[in-house]
Amino acid sequence: ALQVKGLSKSYGSNTVVREVTLDVQRGETLCVIGPSGSGKSTLLKCLNLLEIPDCGEIWLGETCLTAPDADVDAARSRVGMVFQHFNLFPHMSVERNVSLALTSVKGMGREQARATARRRLEEVGLAAFAEQRPSRLSGGQQQRVAIARALAMEPEVMLFDEATSALDPELVKDVLAVMRDLASGGMTMAVVTHEMGFAREAADRVAFMCDGRLAEIGTPDRIFESAEHPRLRQFLSQIL
Ligand code: ATP
Ligand code: MG
Repeated sequence: ALQVKGLSKSYGSNTVVREVTLDVQRGETLCVIGPSGSGKSTLLKCLNLLEIPDCGEIWLGETCLTAPDADVDAARSRVGMVFQHFNLFPHMSVERNVSLALTSVKGMGREQARATARRRLEEVGLAAFAEQRPSRLSGGQQQRVAIARALAMEPEVMLFDEATSALDPELVKDVLAVMRDLASGGMTMAVVTHEMGFAREAADRVAFMCDGRLAEIGTPDRIFESAEHPRLRQFLSQIL
């Protein structure tokens, strides 16, 4: 579904993503792991064109997102993204947070958008909170609203960047459960995470980034049980 070919990105003279080539198959969950500063977030942002790569190609199905004449807004609306900080609008209800882009970007009518938002909130277990302000919800609940907001746009691919890192430990598992449900429901996902338990259980493949390169990629068994790359072995020994 998503193909990355020879993607590189520099900030000034600092090359943070180096010639990364990978694909995420339709329905696949790819987890991306690696040390801090290895370029995971930058790679993910490139996939959503939040950062423009210096070279390389990104293909979403038959569409080349990096072509000079690519419709960036159309491309973005096909890729949902969930960040560490969920950035909900505090002055709007939970439901309005989820339905806002449906009316403003997709031009959906207010009632249909409301119904769609309700359905998505149900999926993440938060239908009862639709009329609340986000500040009344826990961090984990707010993150699930952010996931519902992304899902409401019916993306073909979902990107998660450390979606649970800012949460108190007891709130992490509900968010991971929603992500697991999505993964097993056939969503195509690229997930940057420090949650090795999630990577081991929910990922179809795991990619290890190191110094901007895709150093190793394989099944969770391969990566966690028989890592080849010395830096991957070192990384795993530090965190497991
Ligand atoms: P972490 O696990 O800490 O989130 P990461 O693997 O996501 O790390 P990136 O955030 O992609 O790493 O950063 C890779 C490198 O790029 C780092 O050295 C960072 O300082 C640099 N960098 C990231 N964003 C920018 C930016 N907007 N301008 C300049 N340098 C940046
Ligand atoms: Mg990061």
